[in-house]
Amino acid sequence: NTLIKVNSVSKEYKMGTQTVKAANKLDFTINQGELVVILGPSGSGKSTLLNLLGGLDKPTSGEIIIDNENITAFSDKELTRYRAKEIGFIFQFYNLIPNLTACENIEVLNDIVDENIDGQEILSQVGLSQHVNKFPSELSGGEQQRVSIARAIAKKPKMLLCDEPTGALDSHTGKIIIELLISLCESENTTVIIVTHNNEFAKVANKVIHIKNGEVEYIETNENPQSVD
Ligand code: ADP
Ligand code: ADP
Repeated sequence: NTLIKVNSVSKEYKMGTQTVKAANKLDFTINQGELVVILGPSGSGKSTLLNLLGGLDKPTSGEIIIDNENITAFSDKELTRYRAKEIGFIFQFYNLIPNLTACENIEVLNDIVDENIDGQEILSQVGLSQHVNKFPSELSGGEQQRVSIARAIAKKPKMLLCDEPTGALDSHTGKIIIELLISLCESENTTVIIVTHNNEFAKVANKVIHIKNGEVEYIETNENPQSVD
């Protein structure tokens, strides 16, 4: 079933007298539990699209329907609540708090969302049981990214939005991170959306949305996605 409907969504940025169309009449749907790769070159509008889906930014026109709710019509307060509750963000550079341990980086959420998340338990789900009390600086890049994935899945979000999640990692570690995202997708039925310029990850996706100059160039669907090798 459909989780996300993007209906004729455009986003323009005004730069002095210039107008940049970072998104131009985008139209597509994403199903619950799908792994979607948004693929395109630098400057094609991938981050803009991710920011729109994540409610970090509002379209100039068009609407985004998520789980039958029109998030385009949300107030800023409703958007903030929606982001905190329904979306896990994963970034290229992990965004961990340096003076908190891995476990504390996850449990810090308990003060924000009204829950009692067990950092130790979530970290074991991403294979980091041995590292719960380490600080980010004591972990490798791949381990730091696993902490940030653990933090993102702790609140059981409807979707994970990943902006170049392997961009700072070597290719072997990058593949391990993609495997982890695939397994979350399968075991939790989480919708995973990965924005990247790395076409290596296209084959693992159920759907690949090719973006060029702010437009959907074409959409590929994979009946039988492959694993990363
Ligand atoms: P990508 O993530 O694919 O590199 P972006 O979404 O970052 O692409 O950018 C798409 C286009 O929109 C680019 O031409 C970029 O310069 C422009 N753009 C992005 N953000 C802004 C902004 N805040 N103000 C003005 N132009 C922007
Ligand atoms: P790019 O450099 O291609 O724009 P980034 O990964 O640096 O991509 O950032 C993507 C977007 O995510 C940024 O526009 C920023 O507004 C947003 N962002 C970055 N960090 C956070 C965060 N911790 N929480 C919420 N939004 C963030």
